Amino acid sequence: MTIFDNRLTFCRLKDRTPEEVFGKLRTPCYVIDEAMLKYDGEIIKKISDRTGAKFLLAQKCFSNFNLYPVLEPYLAGTEASGLYEARLGKEEMGNKEVHTFCGAFREDEFDEVLEYSDHIVFNSVGQLKKFGPKTKAAGKSVGLRLNPECSTQIGHAIYDPCSPGSRLGVTIDRFEEMGEETIALLDGIHFHTLCQQNSDDLAKTVAALEDKFGKYLHNLKWINFGGGHHVTREDYDIELLIKTIEHVRDTYDVQVYLEPGEGVVLNAGYMVSRVLDVFDNHDTHIAMLDCSAACHMPDVIECPYLPPLYQADLPGYSYRIRLGGPTCLAGDNIGYYNFEKPLKENDLLVFGDMALYTTVKNNTFNGMPLPSIYVMHDDYSIELITEFGYNDFKYRLGKIN
Ligand SMILES: *Cc1c(COP(=O)(O)O)cnc(C)c1O
Repeated sequence: MTIFDNRLTFCRLKDRTPEEVFGKLRTPCYVIDEAMLKYDGEIIKKISDRTGAKFLLAQKCFSNFNLYPVLEPYLAGTEASGLYEARLGKEEMGNKEVHTFCGAFREDEFDEVLEYSDHIVFNSVGQLKKFGPKTKAAGKSVGLRLNPECSTQIGHAIYDPCSPGSRLGVTIDRFEEMGEETIALLDGIHFHTLCQQNSDDLAKTVAALEDKFGKYLHNLKWINFGGGHHVTREDYDIELLIKTIEHVRDTYDVQVYLEPGEGVVLNAGYMVSRVLDVFDNHDTHIAMLDCSAACHMPDVIECPYLPPLYQADLPGYSYRIRLGGPTCLAGDNIGYYNFEKPLKENDLLVFGDMALYTTVKNNTFNGMPLPSIYVMHDDYSIELITEFGYNDFKYRLGKIN
């Protein structure tokens, strides 16, 4: 995965030192930046206002619901991956729309999913046949996820739902077998094929969708473009996105939805950490931090990617240090960075773009504590949202007497 280190990542910190801004916080911790959430929200709202497209927050990327009231004015609602996220969206995002897509819905949960959701998007013809009539009878909107078989991501099969043998989305051959009666159940269609991408890849995908499924798109109420749109990134081509939305909207007379996760919270969080120890292994300088890649920012290892680090890798900096976490996983490395001079115990380090896929994915492997979560308000005042302790580690492992 590519990193998009840009002017925006640390723009709120400007020339402030990490100690000035975050010095009083107990580390490691996540800090969600309210001003950057609003910055992202304003961009999204402008696109919505110009095109009529509705934006949803994909909660699997960011579920810190105490911040939903900040995002709520810019969004039409939430996207959920299943029961729990659907419920969270319903309960916390200002009574707005909830759209639920699940790889496979469970029979024993489906009624409850229906209760919380306005749109249900199925992943297969079988699931559409099984649950579609019930969904319609409940007055909810029925959708099907399509696979346009148009790979626009190179080198990341794990994030490419169009890769050969993909289990996500219905291909055209399956779609055409499904029969008119089942097609008639559809209020809309959904595709989600992008990840951290620009609008040129969306335009390509829409062209592939029309090429394969075009004749089926005219009797729908809505088309959902899924997520992966990096709309709030500095180099994102918003005009092409708008053209693409308008094209689909006008050609098929549909409501267009987009459900980015990253795009909604880009650059709106930090991981704040202190150095616990420094030493060398032959020529390699090492700093052991109190945060862990494996536990607190698992995408760093899973993707993998190098997270942006405040005031590191500046021109002329050449003291190269490998940063890693204190767990016993040999691969718990964050990466190599260039500093002006050696780090020392207790130095404060701030990683950027840490609102996305972090707090929703962290874990207590190695008995690592979960980091506290703070919010930084517009005026730089910082407030604790939640903190964790020993019981959060213990409860999920067994019955406590
Ligand atoms: C992951 C996902 C999203 C959000 O993706 P981002 O890359 O965070 O924008 C949206 N819709 C669906 C169905 C997803 O699985």
